[in-house]
Amino acid sequence: MSSSKQQAFAERMAQLQTSIHQACIGSNRAPSSVKLLAVSKLHPVDSIQMAWELGLRNFGENYAQELRDKAATLIGLDGLQWHAIGPVQKKNAKYVAQSAWAFHALDNFGLAEKLSQQRQGEPLRCFVQLNIANEPKKNGISPAQLPAFLHAVSALRGLHICGLSCLPPASEVPEKSRPYFKALATLAHRHQLAELSMGTTQDFHVAIEEGATWVRVGTALFGERTLHETLL
Ligand SMILES: *Cc1c(COP(=O)(O)O)cnc(C)c1O
Repeated sequence: MSSSKQQAFAERMAQLQTSIHQACIGSNRAPSSVKLLAVSKLHPVDSIQMAWELGLRNFGENYAQELRDKAATLIGLDGLQWHAIGPVQKKNAKYVAQSAWAFHALDNFGLAEKLSQQRQGEPLRCFVQLNIANEPKKNGISPAQLPAFLHAVSALRGLHICGLSCLPPASEVPEKSRPYFKALATLAHRHQLAELSMGTTQDFHVAIEEGATWVRVGTALFGERTLHETLL
């Protein structure tokens, strides 16, 4: 890893941490109440190692096999916690069950059962993903399904439902996400779920103002992704 690349990363990281801090102060929240999830999908393992050397510990991956492979390669990095944040096919549930510290995209019972069967050791922290804007073909359960879904998954061993997550409709305008973040926070509160995973590079400051406890930020940290997702 070249030192100029490392320096550029350190600067982006410091800038991001300052923005997160300011959003916390601006909304009367303790900075410690918001955690940064560094979304490393489609970035090479040496970038993750560099981020770890600079103190980051939580990394988000979208693809189960990529998570499996990176976790195996970086097994020696102390304190590193992997978060699966993308949709997972049932046949790949084992990779998430084996490697992840948390899963941010739980949205169907069949997958929950598979994760439950395959998890060993401490329970997998799960965020139920909501299709909060009721978009056609979008991942996530509808708000109307949430009570029954929570009831069903609460019976499964090996999973700990800690919160809710969402990815609002893509927009260039961060403010457009606000009503969806608000709606997610209301649902989490109603069900006494403490964690809210919401906000990306585009709109993390709005998400923090609306109560995010985890922001999932990729591009602002690692730059543009090197591989295009459609190639996978
Ligand atoms: C890629 C991704 C992110 C990060 O997006 P950036 O715009 O790169 O910050 C966050 N959440 C999910 C679910 C993602 O797939």
